[in-house]
Amino acid sequence: MTVFKDMGLVAQVFDESALAGLDGHLGIGHTRYSTTGSTSWANAQPAHRQVGNTSVALGHNGNLTNTAELASQLGVSEATTDSDLMAEGIAQAIDDERSDARGLEMALMKVAPSWKGAFSLVLMDQGRIVGMRDPNGFRPLCLGKLAGGGWVIASESSALDLVGAAYVREVAAGEMVVVDANGPRSYYPFEEVTPGLCLFEFVYFARPDSHLYGRSIHAARHEMGRILSEESPADADIIVPVPESGIPAAQGFSAASGIPYGDGLVKNRYVGRTFIEPTQGLRDQGIRLKLNPIPENLAGKRVVLVDDSIVRGSTTKQLVAMVREAGASEVHLRISAPPYRWPCFYGMDTSDRSTLIAASKSVEEIRQHLDADSLGYLSLEGLLGATGVADAGFCTACLSGEYPTELPATADKFQLERR
Ligand code: SF4
Repeated sequence: MTVFKDMGLVAQVFDESALAGLDGHLGIGHTRYSTTGSTSWANAQPAHRQVGNTSVALGHNGNLTNTAELASQLGVSEATTDSDLMAEGIAQAIDDERSDARGLEMALMKVAPSWKGAFSLVLMDQGRIVGMRDPNGFRPLCLGKLAGGGWVIASESSALDLVGAAYVREVAAGEMVVVDANGPRSYYPFEEVTPGLCLFEFVYFARPDSHLYGRSIHAARHEMGRILSEESPADADIIVPVPESGIPAAQGFSAASGIPYGDGLVKNRYVGRTFIEPTQGLRDQGIRLKLNPIPENLAGKRVVLVDDSIVRGSTTKQLVAMVREAGASEVHLRISAPPYRWPCFYGMDTSDRSTLIAASKSVEEIRQHLDADSLGYLSLEGLLGATGVADAGFCTACLSGEYPTELPATADKFQLERR
């Protein structure tokens, strides 16, 4: 097994010469921003362990909520990330199962029930690939098939399209799919609980060309905009999206309200292409690094600005100011999700409640802070309705304060008290 990983964007790390050196019939890959552990090479994934002749690698989407407990169970004093703790738990269990040819599978059956929180995983040893979803199914995972007979497991269905694989089905919440030379087979190592896919996958995380619970993400976001226009209408001249995740909701808002849709902000397509730390001078430009206004489309207009969420509020404040500076006579902000009031412990980097603007401010106070002429959020009922699969089972914790699992021991109970 070859492990190749580095810091940066995929295209920077996997250049042609790196790819040419990766040969074989099994592989896993991983990319995401870090939500636990520092941003360092050691914490980049896949996590890897060598146990006797068995090599194991793991890629993890989500966050565990019982890392302190796991670290003490495993006798690890310097746990770097939750993902590394999972790899360590598997390695220790494989050691116990060394005589069993199905070491990785047996080890997972044994240790996975001790993991709490969010984990969609891909794993491999020298003979198989494994996909696993936690019993709540916080993060997505799906199975696809290549025309030539190979199998693919991916976070999102759009990844299957890119490699020409046909979508087969979602990996179910609590399912472990093992793919080897005989094809896939399933195990269910967890106690069954009510499924709880992250509702923010529909709002923001997932790509619009993906499907979740059988529903098109683009169509769901369009519907969010339509319902938002009914719940929070605005008297305006133009509907402007905050690119890119605000685009389908802005189109839905425009279609339902009859107010023309138009581009008012252009995304700088070159930002994010490098991992070079911006200089202070660049940082001072703030949002202008990412978005640039089109004054010709905004000047003298009453603008409805549609975005998917307001988390800390600093970016949105700059956006409103930018649209005003470009000449808009009014800026009406519409958000295609309810106020984000509670921290997420399942893979979104918002575990400090004090940084969430809606945790301590009313909608009117937020409007004043952002200097918008009006502010409207989509209701939770509206958002669930827009998914088209409201009864399929969702985590709504950051919007409702209802957490589907035990919280981590480190969660500040005082901070979590309802206002
Ligand atoms: S708390 Fe919010 S962001 Fe986190 S998993 Fe639940 S719905 Fe998603």
